[in-house]
Amino acid sequence: MSILYLDCCSFFFGLAIGSFLNVIIYRVPRNLSIVHPPSACPICERRIRPWENIPIFSYCILLRGRCAGCGNRIPIRYPLVELTTGIVFTMVAHRFGYSFETLVFLAFSAVLIALSVIDLQTKLLPDVIILPALLASCVLSSATLFPAFQPFWSIKPMTAFLGMASGGIPLLILAWVYMRITGREGMGGGDIKLMFLVGALLGPKGVILTLFIGSLTGSVVGVLYLRLCRQARHTQIPFGPFLSLGAWIAMMWGNTIVSFYLKTSGLA
Ligand SMILES: [Zn+2]
Repeated sequence: MSILYLDCCSFFFGLAIGSFLNVIIYRVPRNLSIVHPPSACPICERRIRPWENIPIFSYCILLRGRCAGCGNRIPIRYPLVELTTGIVFTMVAHRFGYSFETLVFLAFSAVLIALSVIDLQTKLLPDVIILPALLASCVLSSATLFPAFQPFWSIKPMTAFLGMASGGIPLLILAWVYMRITGREGMGGGDIKLMFLVGALLGPKGVILTLFIGSLTGSVVGVLYLRLCRQARHTQIPFGPFLSLGAWIAMMWGNTIVSFYLKTSGLA
């Protein structure tokens, strides 16, 4: 089957998963069940009809951004998360083709999108999302102990372990030092757990790239935000979205970036 077919399917699959991520993003931080009750408007509590739940289409054409019951604005976040997930899924499937990696990386991308939006809204990265993903990543690398599974996944248990150590431990130390010096919490525990996850899934190379891209984009956006919005210097800027972006880029093009860097710097 052609890659174009896979791209199209992944886009629509991504839209549907994006719609589900919206449920997770709204309910997980509020400690609500993600399966029950059916979706409703948070203001007037009117049930969302199935045809009002079609990704992008319902928001843009059917409802024009407003609840059909009370007419209140539906946050633009809903179609944005759906569209982003659709595009991200298409890119992952296009990059990794018909492979087991595609499935794993689609799931990882969905986790990163959910975590980023939740972190932007609540400044928290919930354990109920990170810890199961971390467990799944450890199971995945342990499965490579069986030779039959080795063609499917390249991160061996030792690489995963080194990844977790290189991802989590420096941040733990950094957080502790920052806490001792300033008496304030600079880096959340969620960021550290997220880096354990990145390490378990992508190994130490992925961790280094994630931290590099995450801190670079985080500091550029952070400085711009503080300047442009005249925020107080101690305003907390969530780091999760930047780490997620870094991890996603490392996942997609990590090997290409590392070999390009080694070549241009004359190290290889
Ligand atoms: Zn309503």
